[in-house]
Amino acid sequence: MTLSRTRQRPSASEDGTKSSLALGLCQQRAAQHLNEEIPTMRPHCVALMTAFVLTVGSPIAAQDPFGDISDLKLLKPEDKVDVPTTPTPKGAILLLDGKSLDNWTGRNGKDPANWKLLDGGVVEVKSPTADIITKQQFDGKFKLHVEFRIPYQPKAMGQRRGNSGVYLQGRYEIQVLDSYGAKVRQKDDCGAIYSIAAPSENVCKAPTVWQSYDIEYTAPKCDGDKKVMPAVATVYHNGVKIHDNVPITTDNTLRGLGGDPCSAGPILLQENGCPVQFRNIWLLAMKE
Ligand code: MG
Repeated sequence: MTLSRTRQRPSASEDGTKSSLALGLCQQRAAQHLNEEIPTMRPHCVALMTAFVLTVGSPIAAQDPFGDISDLKLLKPEDKVDVPTTPTPKGAILLLDGKSLDNWTGRNGKDPANWKLLDGGVVEVKSPTADIITKQQFDGKFKLHVEFRIPYQPKAMGQRRGNSGVYLQGRYEIQVLDSYGAKVRQKDDCGAIYSIAAPSENVCKAPTVWQSYDIEYTAPKCDGDKKVMPAVATVYHNGVKIHDNVPITTDNTLRGLGGDPCSAGPILLQENGCPVQFRNIWLLAMKE
């Protein structure tokens, strides 16, 4: 089954140079891999894009990915309105305040988290680098609040467009992607529990606009070291419920940390070659 598809939007600018051929090739290569999340940017794409930037100058480099989106047709005016930030509730752990990455490490749990710290309490994915994970590990039942915004990448396609992700216990991805305006909801779209369940509605904001996930998660139930019930997640995207007590019928979605599903795990934010931004991530333990 094909999980991904190509969506095209009007280009912010026309580029008829031979360098655009290089970028076009990258996009064609990317299109060949639309059935999977790309672990890292393919070497040939990196080489072509690097050569392009060094020799000619890139329209992508020149365009602020969080700048003007006036050439994007909005479905409704509020799609361009940020979701208000949600203060950390009493008793919650503030995992990401955007002022430091002290609560985080690289994916291997050893290297420092080296994503970009920006003004306004914002952290941006740094590519190519690695996913980042919380130093603290979690199990049981909890609520996770995440604010994020997706770059405007009109020349990118499918899984190359604003891809990141939020992994529960490091194993189960809630997809982050530019799915704005997609009429068919799939299991790799923004808000999907990756490969498990498509969101029940597409409530995506436009790229560059702040969005939120509020995830109520229950870890797998285990009898000793044997899993007897799967993890379950209810997900609100921009305040709208898009998953209602969905069993996560796997021990690990693509590119998760894996490991024993009966053990605690961190929150993981995915690096997937796109400068997605995050702010204000907190976790509140809940009674089961
Ligand atoms: Mg992803």
